[in-house]
Amino acid sequence: MSQKVALIFAMEAEARPLIDELGLEYDPTLGDPRLPFKHFRGSLDGRIELLLSLSGKDSRYQVDHIGTEPATLNAYVSLSKFQPDLCINAGTAGGFRSRGCAIGDVFMIDRPCKFHDHRIPIPGFDAYGIGSYPVFAPQEMATALGLKLGGVSTGNSLDYTDVCLEIIEKNEGHVKEMEAAAIAWVASLLKVPFLALKSVTDIVDGEHPTHEEFLRNLDAASRRIREKTLDVLRYLSARPHLLHRS
Ligand code: SAH
Repeated sequence: MSQKVALIFAMEAEARPLIDELGLEYDPTLGDPRLPFKHFRGSLDGRIELLLSLSGKDSRYQVDHIGTEPATLNAYVSLSKFQPDLCINAGTAGGFRSRGCAIGDVFMIDRPCKFHDHRIPIPGFDAYGIGSYPVFAPQEMATALGLKLGGVSTGNSLDYTDVCLEIIEKNEGHVKEMEAAAIAWVASLLKVPFLALKSVTDIVDGEHPTHEEFLRNLDAASRRIREKTLDVLRYLSARPHLLHRS
């Protein structure tokens, strides 16, 4: 197989429809047995070799390891061991109605990934805190597959403060979530192209409480992630030149 793609997800619920559809198999040998990450192997029709990695569950709290620290470490383990040609972070996100988001939209992030909760008002460190990590974002693919284009802003809280909102606005965040910029940082260090697909589960500037809306829409959003991730993989497998490393 000429292409290798690593798919990194935070929550098992987000990834389950895709794991089942592709028939990916759990591989307990890829990672470090001391770490909670779960790795699945397989392929897209024998044409793209795939690794799908989940952040895994916290043994004390029995919930998925969402957020930047597990995402960072999982990305390092997965990308350094598998050495893919592309890393895709797919998952759910809150979308801003003021930027045209609706529940069910799937975004391909087309501008550098940034943080909104790394506030360091010291010259030099301020820009470092926000960060700016590149994405691989073929526009013609987004058009062909009906993906919306926009920015993502990452932070470690499901909710937000007024200051978060100001920074997300400056970050051109159409969506906010809790992993993309962290994984993009690792991918940039390891020189692996990084693509982010984000399915909107909740409207941040809408009238419903985020956690209720998130839970109500999680299953539908995860099926949308399955569809759109498969579309992206098929699109790329038909155009191997797009993934040649520079
Ligand atoms: N409360 C949920 C926990 C997950 S919500 C539950 O009980 O199942 C947060 C996860 O979804 C994170 O991985 C994050 O990346 C994404 N997410 C979805 N909507 C979000 C939002 N509005 N803000 C931040 N992260 C969001």
